[in-house]
Amino acid sequence: MTNPISKIKQAMKLMKSIDLKQLEAISKKVDLPEMMNKFAELDESQMNSLVKMLNSSGKKRELPEINGDFYETHLRLKPEHRKIQLQVREFMEKEVKPLVNHYWLHDEFPFEIIPKFKELNLCGVTYEGYGCPNLPFIMEGVIASEIARIDASIATFFGVQSGLAMGSIYLCGSEEQKEKWLPKMQQFDVIGAFGLTEPLVGSAAAGGLTTTCKKTEEGWILNGQKKWIGNSTFSDITIIWARDVDDDNVKGFIVENDTPGFSVEKIKGKMALRIVQNGLITMDNCFVKDENKLEHANTFKDTARVLQMTRAGVAWMATGCARGAYESALDYTRKRKQFGKPIASFQLIQGHLVEMLSNLTAMQTMVYRLSELQDQGLLKDEHASLAKVFCTLRTRDIVSHAREVMGGNGILLEHDVARFVADAEAIYSYEGTKEINSLIVGRSITGMSAFV
Ligand SMILES: Cc1cc2nc3c(=O)[nH]c(=O)nc-3n(C[C@H](O)[C@H](O)[C@H](O)COP(=O)(O)OP(=O)(O)OC[C@H]3O[C@@H](n4cnc5c(N)ncnc54)[C@H](O)[C@@H]3O)c2cc1C
Repeated sequence: MTNPISKIKQAMKLMKSIDLKQLEAISKKVDLPEMMNKFAELDESQMNSLVKMLNSSGKKRELPEINGDFYETHLRLKPEHRKIQLQVREFMEKEVKPLVNHYWLHDEFPFEIIPKFKELNLCGVTYEGYGCPNLPFIMEGVIASEIARIDASIATFFGVQSGLAMGSIYLCGSEEQKEKWLPKMQQFDVIGAFGLTEPLVGSAAAGGLTTTCKKTEEGWILNGQKKWIGNSTFSDITIIWARDVDDDNVKGFIVENDTPGFSVEKIKGKMALRIVQNGLITMDNCFVKDENKLEHANTFKDTARVLQMTRAGVAWMATGCARGAYESALDYTRKRKQFGKPIASFQLIQGHLVEMLSNLTAMQTMVYRLSELQDQGLLKDEHASLAKVFCTLRTRDIVSHAREVMGGNGILLEHDVARFVADAEAIYSYEGTKEINSLIVGRSITGMSAFV
């Protein structure tokens, strides 16, 4: 039985928490003596709950933190790697986010971020030596995702420099070539580009390159065109893949952009990844010294080794882009009110948010496993292709839900989601389209090639 002294104490506490003016107003609406009788019948625990409820009723309820990593996948990272992830996040939020919409709109590259990138000292993420950080592949993904969470163009710039261009030299270069180029590229003192696609040859690059190389006594002569080449309008070097007219094999070259016969025209009018400066390259009897022929790039299989590594990075990039869109949309729906309530409190809006989060969470768990395979030396082309297909497809879906829950504001650049919607389109197509990556996975699971 409840001790009467304790009951009196509780009643006093309750009285303290009651505003007398409010009590007067209430007495006009309810039968107060009857209510007091009911209070008297409450036991101690019921009384405590009532006091607690009254004390908390005036407080504003804290909303949960916005967190696009719902399954806390970051817990798989070692503390020193988690620290790097948070450093990149801070850098992107503080230094890059305020700039990107302006540069995206004006179709220009923010060169002022390069010295700040240099300070992060993360370029050439996984490579050993040459001033590179020698981090596990999982960190290459984490970094790509953190950059893309704020802006997919900057992630693409970094992916071309650190992945495609440096990766070609790291995987296919001679020791002298690595010593000569990688330390400078790691410091962004030399900017690189990667030229594989041509105006008339995209998906069919493996067997159909029309850019040619011809051995001469002094070196090599390159002729042909390359289209869509990211960073090439301002890069110092471009990795060019060309078919040898003598043995019909694809070979790789480090072409210095100021080489006579090598010219770059900026591709204008893009509706996605507008910060990335893509170029149309023309090589007209462009002479490349022997020392700039990538020593170990002698068939398309060598090109494919580079692409396998970077394709995994694109899956991570898509995941970051999707996370950025989801988090922006969630934030917006909690602030935007319609019918007197935050739209996040509407069931149909929560349906959109949960669908986005389900896909995002599936993507995150997939790319973590993908990088684990890579770190264990078990990654195959089809693994990277499956993740590239799934993540870029789901990203398109997530950004369209994000745009939808924002109503008209979803198409305004200032709310960021419009940029994610547009950029998801380019990520979907580059580094192998959905069809081409599906054919790679299809061949692996059926044992039958459906390539034409
Ligand atoms: C923003 C951006 C940046 C890029 N950066 C670079 C870069 O830095 N370096 C570089 O080398 N390239 C770059 N690319 C090129 C990119 O990799 C190609 O766009 C991509 O490989 C597709 O080639 P394509 O555009 O010529 O399309 P196409 O090959 O013409 O394909 C058109 C359509 O046909 C489909 N298709 C083709 N073949 C088949 C088939 N056998 N079966 C079924 N469907 C098929 C494709 O899936 C696609 O849907 C970039 C592209 C973009 C958009």
